[in-house]
Amino acid sequence: HAKILAGKRGIVFGVANNKSIAWACAQICAEQGAQLAFNFLGDAQEKRVRELVKELPESIVLPCDVSKDDQIESFYSNIQKHWDSIDFIIHSVAFTEKENLKEKFMVVTRESFASTLDISAYSLVAVTRAALPLMKKGGSVITMSYYGAEKVVPRYNVMGVAKAALESCAKYLAYDLGEVGIRVNAISAGPIRTLSSSAIPGIKEMLDNAHKHAPLKRNVTTDDVARSALYLLSDFSSGVTGEVLHVDCGYNTLGMFSAVE
Ligand code: NAD
Repeated sequence: HAKILAGKRGIVFGVANNKSIAWACAQICAEQGAQLAFNFLGDAQEKRVRELVKELPESIVLPCDVSKDDQIESFYSNIQKHWDSIDFIIHSVAFTEKENLKEKFMVVTRESFASTLDISAYSLVAVTRAALPLMKKGGSVITMSYYGAEKVVPRYNVMGVAKAALESCAKYLAYDLGEVGIRVNAISAGPIRTLSSSAIPGIKEMLDNAHKHAPLKRNVTTDDVARSALYLLSDFSSGVTGEVLHVDCGYNTLGMFSAVE
């Protein structure tokens, strides 16, 4: 069998460690023949990413804070020194201050609201637009969202607002870029234990709730997300753009929880 991403090159934003959703996506893409470039944020993360990518020969590792236009610019100009084109982008990045995930949504400050939406939603626009000179043959861009974009998930708070913006950004980008053959989609993943999610005080409740009530009666894994990412990044999803694909064991389909155990 030919590898699904043979000959393709992609950028992976958001590998923090081996539990990261982006890392599971990267591994499956590499298995399927893709060559990858990774960003990191700070020295500690650089070390971890370099250690992980040892198992993926020919990978590129470069610094990039996605909230800084100059860093995005130098990231891609460095990529251009190695590659003349890319085929896909995995955007798996989000940030908010811990204080925002504790109590009420409405306590969020103007400043923190702006920076959360900047890093977690606008960054998709910034990293996609800056990649266009390298994506002349078309391509596929994916981002990671969560159900808190659509419905109130207590304590997910401003991150839910940021995910609503992110999903909308994906749809508007899909519209803008359809004519140049670039597809943009979001995966709405069920809760998974990662570095970022461990900062959410409600994560245990979210995991338990999904496990108990989701039609598949389990939590999703980063491998579940990665397999769906492979579909969206490959030609198997050639007619799909502006879509939010739920990879949540069916949780989002529920209108109520069964009272019968
Ligand atoms: P993670 O902590 O492994 O990944 C988050 C990444 O964002 C890290 O690599 C971090 O360095 C990066 N990041 C934060 N600010 C950045 C900045 N300014 N510049 C560059 N990178 C920055 O956690 P994860 O759970 O794998 O999260 C990946 C994505 O998946 C996030 O968008 C998250 O919201 C989303 N998601 C996670 C879950 C979950 O339950 N874990 C569920 C649905 C969606």
